[in-house]
Amino acid sequence: MSNSTKTKSDGEWRAILSPDQFRILRQKGTEPAGTGRYENFKGQGVYTCVGCGTPLYTSATKFASGCGWPAFFDAIPGAVSRHEDRSFGMSRTEITCTACGGHLGHVFKGEGFDTPTDERHCVNSVSLNFVDDDKKP
Ligand SMILES: [Zn+2]
Repeated sequence: MSNSTKTKSDGEWRAILSPDQFRILRQKGTEPAGTGRYENFKGQGVYTCVGCGTPLYTSATKFASGCGWPAFFDAIPGAVSRHEDRSFGMSRTEITCTACGGHLGHVFKGEGFDTPTDERHCVNSVSLNFVDDDKKP
C-alpha cells in the first residue's frame, strides 16, 4: 500500500479496478441487493478493501441481516470513515475506506438487530476481498 492511494486519479483507479469496482468504490455505486458474493458467506477471516488492501472488517463482526448485502456490526478501529450523505433526498451515513477513500456502503443505527453495537454496516461485496485466516502469510 502506498501513501499516494488517496491521490490516485480516476485514470489510475480505472487501470487497477474492474468496471464494477470503479463504479462502486470511486463513483459511490451500489451493487444490486442479493447479488454480492459475500452476503451469505460465512468464512473465518478478514475482509479487506478491494482498492488498497487495508483490513476493514473481521468475520467476527459479520451477521445475517437479511438486507441483501454483507452486514457488519463494527469495523476494525480507524479503518472506516463516516460521512453524512444527503443524496437521493435522504440523510444517511456513508462509509468509506479511510486509507484510499473508496466507497463501501452505508451505516445504519438503531434498527434493533441483536448485536453489541445496534449498528449495521451495509457494505457492497464488490468493495471487499476476503482473506481466510488459514491463508494469512
Ligand atoms: Zn481502501
